[in-house]
Amino acid sequence: MTTNDVQHLEAGHVLQTYRRAPVVFTRGQGIFIYDEDGQQYTDLISGIGAASLGHSHPGLVSAIADQARTLLHTSNLFFHPLQGQLARQLADMSGLSRTFFCNSGAEAVEACLKFAKRHWHTRGDAKRTEIIALEHSFHGRTFGALSTTSSEAYRVPFQPLLPGVQFIPVTVDALKTAVSSSTQAIIVEPIQGEGGIRPLPQAFAEALNEVCARFDVPLIADEVQCGLGRTGKPFYYQKLGLQPDLVAIGKALGGGVPVAAALVNERIASTVSYGDHGSTYGGNLLSCRAALVFLDELINKGLLDHVATIGPQVEKRLRALAERRTEIVEVRGQGLMWGLEVNTDVDAIVDAARNHRLLINRTSGSVVRLLPPLIITLEEIDQALETLEAAFTDVANKKS
Ligand SMILES: *Cc1c(COP(=O)(O)O)cnc(C)c1O
Repeated sequence: MTTNDVQHLEAGHVLQTYRRAPVVFTRGQGIFIYDEDGQQYTDLISGIGAASLGHSHPGLVSAIADQARTLLHTSNLFFHPLQGQLARQLADMSGLSRTFFCNSGAEAVEACLKFAKRHWHTRGDAKRTEIIALEHSFHGRTFGALSTTSSEAYRVPFQPLLPGVQFIPVTVDALKTAVSSSTQAIIVEPIQGEGGIRPLPQAFAEALNEVCARFDVPLIADEVQCGLGRTGKPFYYQKLGLQPDLVAIGKALGGGVPVAAALVNERIASTVSYGDHGSTYGGNLLSCRAALVFLDELINKGLLDHVATIGPQVEKRLRALAERRTEIVEVRGQGLMWGLEVNTDVDAIVDAARNHRLLINRTSGSVVRLLPPLIITLEEIDQALETLEAAFTDVANKKS
């Protein structure tokens, strides 16, 4: 099938919720991905952070092939050997003792919102009806997650959503004004992803801990994008010193196999009962096997140390790039999660980069986002950034 055939077929039959770039990818290898004509692209977006081990990672490929031959799925009616192992590893990494498995980031957020609410029901406090979320937040597209996502364009067509959600600017004053003994939960991304790669300020994180303790409010950290090694720490909330009661994870966890989870501490876990939540696929053998491979690479095989080591070097490169390019007005991020706020047409930059066979994307209006596979080397980053600079030059030349 040619690119044209693929586009034509989709145009006729796939619900048009995505404005895709006009390229059809058919295979990948490491940080590279190949289109139908065999053209090689450098992938600095890695399936929005999901292809965390790069493409066709040998360990992941053989593990999921083996699992497919052995047993793929049993549902949660029965035990299988992998969920407990995976949950224990996640508990070791996070300090949150229990895991609920699901299939996507939105589902993980949904689960966190339900468990926070359930906790107040169990405690018999009916006044806890308000949820605090942040401006520039993104938590997913299902009704609960969408209710806490700040973009009006995403929310308005689907109103009424969950009642009682308040969006506050990321300031200590706004937080202190908003929180009360009616607050059911506060949900934050330790680094806001879709909202433009915005790390929470340290002072705000400290204020979050303080108000959550003072008003006994469960804190939800949505680490779907910034978690699982992307910043050089297992979780970015750890770097901030945040003390969440619930943590949502997804994206990187399965290396491209759909798997996500809500991690909860005992305070929340002890209020949840049989039947409160569930998922047919959640934590099935295939997805757990993939996640175990990812965590083994991350924790035992040096991937986390690799990101922690190259992250500051990547930052240096990006700050140097911003010195040279007046179009870049701010560099934000950590580890291998970066946003370049630009004062030029971001889509033009993204298109120009793709013409140079470099994949990046736009987020939040004016931000170029880089989420490379965690396996990328500094040499590969250097090459990719040269290409990115060429894309900036192309766009500047076209303008003048
Ligand atoms: C991507 C993302 C989600 C939603 O994840 P899906 O897998 O697309 O449902 C939720 N929260 C954050 C912070 C995300 O980046």
